[in-house]
Amino acid sequence: MRMYDLIEKKKRGEELSESEIRQMIDGYTAGRIPDYQMSAFLMAVCFRGMSAKETADLTLAMRDSGDVIDLSGIRGIKVDKHSTGGVGDKTSIALAPLVSSVGVRVAKMSGRGLGHTGGTIDKLESIPGFTTGLTMEQFLKQVDEIGMAIMGQTAELAPADKKLYALRDVTATVDQLSLIASSIMSKKLASGADAIVLDVKWGSGAFMKKPEDARKLAEAMVSIGRMTGKKMSAFITGMDQPLGFAVGNALEVREAIDTLCGKGPEDFTKLCMTLGTEMVRLGGITADKAEAEKLLKDAIDSGAALKQLERFVEAQGGDPEVIRHPERLKIAETTLDVRAESDGYVAGIECSEVGVSSLLLGGGRMKKEDEIDLSVGLILKKKCGDEVHKGDVLATIYYNGEEKAQAAAERLSAAYRIEAKPPVLQDLILDRITE
Ligand code: URA
Repeated sequence: MRMYDLIEKKKRGEELSESEIRQMIDGYTAGRIPDYQMSAFLMAVCFRGMSAKETADLTLAMRDSGDVIDLSGIRGIKVDKHSTGGVGDKTSIALAPLVSSVGVRVAKMSGRGLGHTGGTIDKLESIPGFTTGLTMEQFLKQVDEIGMAIMGQTAELAPADKKLYALRDVTATVDQLSLIASSIMSKKLASGADAIVLDVKWGSGAFMKKPEDARKLAEAMVSIGRMTGKKMSAFITGMDQPLGFAVGNALEVREAIDTLCGKGPEDFTKLCMTLGTEMVRLGGITADKAEAEKLLKDAIDSGAALKQLERFVEAQGGDPEVIRHPERLKIAETTLDVRAESDGYVAGIECSEVGVSSLLLGGGRMKKEDEIDLSVGLILKKKCGDEVHKGDVLATIYYNGEEKAQAAAERLSAAYRIEAKPPVLQDLILDRITE
């Protein structure tokens, strides 16, 4: 096989065979195929696309480029959840303890934030002492003992995707459906869960800007998962404004804790309940939706979900007291309010700009090796559909450093679109895909 021939074939819009795809991925992972040839191939995929079979073959070849984790030693059905990413998305921090408090087993590998989107691993590290650097043995033992664990992705998990993703990031080849589907699903399949619930986002803060594109992505991922024998469900959910009110690492952990106390934002609570209900069903706890919902509501009301978060934090070296006393989280003490410049209704909030505001405060990374300030971020006081008067506080910034705060305030102010008429609001949960 010559890489040149595969590029040529894709350029002409032809379908690659399973063995061609596998040899290409193996060759690229081993360093035999250079970045410039792979870049040309990726760009050809952007123009020509991939068939469903090619997408599945690519996913499996990437899965097999590294370790495939064996969770079979852990009792019960292991359920994973994956979000395609967004702003203010602290879902895993509340959802994993919530569902595991009713018996679902969650063995989750998460990533760090990059660019305008945050990452679960960074957020969790704002809990004093908390570590996500578990060995595989510790990880498996913890899931078996307390029902859940969250660790950082190991270098051995789908290394082909790691290399390809870094290349896509700098060659404008990220937002292609087959490439996104294979990237996400190769890691999910390598993580070894029996069932996977996907949260596929659409909107200004998501990779997919239109609901119909999010739907196609969801369908592609669900079909790949099913083909490999996994139980799969996907939800199409809105990311046209940040999720909840908090954006920034420690602030988001505080909001996740509030949510498990039953005092979370409405949209975030709804998303956790929707994804959680599906995880409870796929996890074999009950097939009945209403019963699953009730189990989760009871777990919040009784404090069982919060207790599970506390156990999880303690098991991973964190200070469990933080969960009962979130004021112990280190949050920047200086604040700056961003105010409305006119009367009207919040018609839109440019989601990625809100993420960039948090980034400018130091809450995210421009480059992989950047240190981040876990204590900074912002709390939205007004969201889409809210009526505002000139001078009302739209958002409060928590910062360290005057210049950074000013830069973030400008971006945040510009991210709000205020119009005379109330907007038509889209449902947060648009659809559920199971086939
Ligand atoms: N998340 C991933 O892991 N891969 C993509 O390609 C896009 C989002």
